[in-house]
Amino acid sequence: MMSGHFRVRAVGLLAGAGLLATAACGSGAAETATAGDKPRVVTAFYPLQWLAERVGGADIDVSVLTAPGVEPHDLELGAQQIADLEDATLSVYIKGVQPAVDDALAPRGERAFDAATAVKTLPAPAHAGEEEEAHEHEVSYDPHLWLDPSRLATVAGKLGERMAQADPAHAQAYQDRAARTAADLTALDQEMAKGLTNCTSKTMVTSHEAFGYLADRYKLKQIGITLDPETEPSPARIAEVAKLANAEKVTTIFTEALVSPKVAEVLAQEVHAKTAVLDPLEGKPANGDYLSQMRQNLKTLQTALGCA
Ligand SMILES: [Zn+2]
Repeated sequence: MMSGHFRVRAVGLLAGAGLLATAACGSGAAETATAGDKPRVVTAFYPLQWLAERVGGADIDVSVLTAPGVEPHDLELGAQQIADLEDATLSVYIKGVQPAVDDALAPRGERAFDAATAVKTLPAPAHAGEEEEAHEHEVSYDPHLWLDPSRLATVAGKLGERMAQADPAHAQAYQDRAARTAADLTALDQEMAKGLTNCTSKTMVTSHEAFGYLADRYKLKQIGITLDPETEPSPARIAEVAKLANAEKVTTIFTEALVSPKVAEVLAQEVHAKTAVLDPLEGKPANGDYLSQMRQNLKTLQTALGCA
């Protein structure tokens, strides 16, 4: 709920922006071309940054809270980042990925866009027999929705609408870029659907259970060693996954760039499988972008699962 305090603050900001625009008009065009003139969009982690840059184009300034190379789930926010969120025209996040960001954005109302509200979410995964801790921040759905390009296409359209509302002067440009981005994501989705149809195996063993949406979309089965990257799997869990992997004749255990491959390597040895990197895109890829890395993931999956 929006508190009175925030309402007052929002009015103050609008009045300030009006004064600024008036002053800029009076003092010549040169001074209007500063970075401060553009709406500022703060994104929580890489796939949302990529999406905001594609949809916002040159009309907005995009920043990201999670630095490259940092696993986003356990992000803690510094004072400067909280100040950036306070000043942002729009913040883009997915509730359930980063508790610190969820807390900071909870009071932002219309100035925060939770991408999970734009799509049909899947239930949060659970591991039978594993101790369920009652986390204050836990959400009932799986937040890794960006790993289904068709859902991300839907988010692109919604983000275009939100940017258009926040900056009506460039509404058409946001909507056009959102449509182009959604078209690119739809093309990727079709490639993945086609590329994963005829496979010897349908089972993917992953480091943490990030690929639920990908598995759901392309009719694969995911066995995640852990539910989240910070949790060390118990010996019982590793034994259980080994048993499942053997039963499903799994040839490859997937590791990811931002999580130590140690557990996956031990498991791979145990079941005589190889390891390969499957990127959950929780951070910026070393090369390329979301689209090219997803195409790389498709190749990795086709090799590992024996797809024709
Ligand atoms: Zn994750």
